[in-house]
Amino acid sequence: MRRRRFAFLFALCCVIAGPAHAQDPFAEFQLTGVFDQGGYAIGQARPGDRLTVGERALRLTTDGRFLIGFHRDESSPFRFSLMRDGATTDYALPLKAREYAIQRIDGLPPKQVTPPAEVLARIRSEAEAAWIARDRDSALTDFEGRFDWPLQGDPGVITGVYGSQRILNGEPRQPHYGVDIAAPTGTPVLAPAGGVVSFIHEDMYFSGGTLMIDHGHGLASTFLHMETIEVALGDAVARGQRIGTLGASGRATGPHLDWRVNWFQSRLDPMHFASPE
Ligand SMILES: [Zn+2]
Repeated sequence: MRRRRFAFLFALCCVIAGPAHAQDPFAEFQLTGVFDQGGYAIGQARPGDRLTVGERALRLTTDGRFLIGFHRDESSPFRFSLMRDGATTDYALPLKAREYAIQRIDGLPPKQVTPPAEVLARIRSEAEAAWIARDRDSALTDFEGRFDWPLQGDPGVITGVYGSQRILNGEPRQPHYGVDIAAPTGTPVLAPAGGVVSFIHEDMYFSGGTLMIDHGHGLASTFLHMETIEVALGDAVARGQRIGTLGASGRATGPHLDWRVNWFQSRLDPMHFASPE
């Protein structure tokens, strides 16, 4: 028998439970997280359940946990489906909208706004390589653990926040998806959580030395503008392990670490995972 049901979920104190009902086969379904644009949630399903977001089937841990993430411009409600015992329930999860800082700068020389034509192919191929790395779906479970700020001791100065956007000469740029942490060149960068190094590029056009750590189930951290990278592709890293040093490589105006977090192609707010102490 194939049934299809629909459930509307309400966020209560960062904990969401499915419709509770004595005979309800979905009553044990639960989500915990941050329900806003840039947020994420970890769900507890039953082993054997099948969850989908659009075309994507979500990976479950052996205990039935899964991860979903909400992009900067995610529309509310966020929809996903649960298939259990031959029945499908569609969920609509309300998300809080955020306001982002928008900065308009007009009258710039065109060459400051548009990259030179001869680097466009390079930019495109680099973006594609990063897209493929973000799409990785591994069974690592570090996404469930604690995250620490990637600088130890002096936490640096936050000079750029998630979601902000510049409009140069009337043309919107790609929003800023990371948190910018200014600190001296050579400051050690530490893995905020465990994982496996899933992408390394010594010199990308925009982001210079770039390093990605896969935390599992589509969640990854990316570090931009690195001066040195001290791990290799495929290395397992532990939370707090030194992975390199920050710098000003690529198109950076000064030494800083740009830390990004993504769930597949959805860009999440790193400050939802860790903050400076
Ligand atoms: Zn940045």
